[in-house]
Amino acid sequence: MAANATPQTVLVTGASSGIGQGIAIAFGQQGANVIINYHGDEESARETLKQVEEGGGKGFICKADVGKEEDVTRMFQEAIDTYGTVDVLVSNAGIQKDSSFAEMTLEQWNKVMTTNLTGYFLCAREAIKIFDKKPTPSPEDKAKGNIIFMSSVHDIIPWAGHVNYASSKGGILMLMKSLALEVAPKKIRVNGISPGAIATDINADVWQDEEKKKELMKLIPYKRIGLPEDIAKVAVWLASPESDYITGTTIYVDGGMTLYPGFVDNG
Ligand code: NAD
Repeated sequence: MAANATPQTVLVTGASSGIGQGIAIAFGQQGANVIINYHGDEESARETLKQVEEGGGKGFICKADVGKEEDVTRMFQEAIDTYGTVDVLVSNAGIQKDSSFAEMTLEQWNKVMTTNLTGYFLCAREAIKIFDKKPTPSPEDKAKGNIIFMSSVHDIIPWAGHVNYASSKGGILMLMKSLALEVAPKKIRVNGISPGAIATDINADVWQDEEKKKELMKLIPYKRIGLPEDIAKVAVWLASPESDYITGTTIYVDGGMTLYPGFVDNG
């Protein structure tokens, strides 16, 4: 961000850990105001805020369950009360509740859908209402609002044993595209980021186990596990005027995981 430019106000859900924390910190380094949403872990949310401030940004932490309408409206109201507006939503909070399909309980299905898909709807709806209050720029001007949905390579790669998760991510893909189409004339951009395997809490059981990590590497042609920073850099760019002509697109940040790794030529 250029010196003296108005700082962006960015709301990041699930920002007390992993990818969301990395994104909040990266926006902080751009001098942004960052609303750091968390669900349970206040101490880690405070750590995110500390790092946002150390990087030159401002912000506050906000406890909210993204699957609850009243929590989401309160969170956006707090953002308005503090900063007057929101410029960027990064809808990132997500969970897994793994089970074979026949054993999957309705609760496991609903919990994942409520957080991963309904949560994205609720947050995006509040963001759009705020963007709608801003005057629509002329077609030559930059976007007045940006939404980034954190999806997954499993919005296109089927995942046995994780049907609820993959279904929620597939839903995000079409939520993103349909919303992008609806709001593009108002100069609001909506895009997705689909990470491959990124070392965070959600998959710690895999990357912390040498055997499982070896198996995972067979799925990553680029031969390294991703880091939250790999995703954060893309999010910052996707919310910046540098990417102004991009809307309705998913960027796969996956070390080639979506390239059908089984077809790699090992010589
Ligand atoms: P993570 O577990 O560290 O982060 C998920 C965050 O969401 C946590 O901070 C958690 O507290 C929060 N959260 C969960 N339920 C919530 C709720 N109801 N309301 C508010 N916050 C809630 O894992 P991560 O890897 O950083 O995941 C972030 C996103 O990236 C998720 O949407 C995940 O599906 C996606 N993703 C991760 C990977 C990966 O390999 N790590 C790959 C593809 C996609």
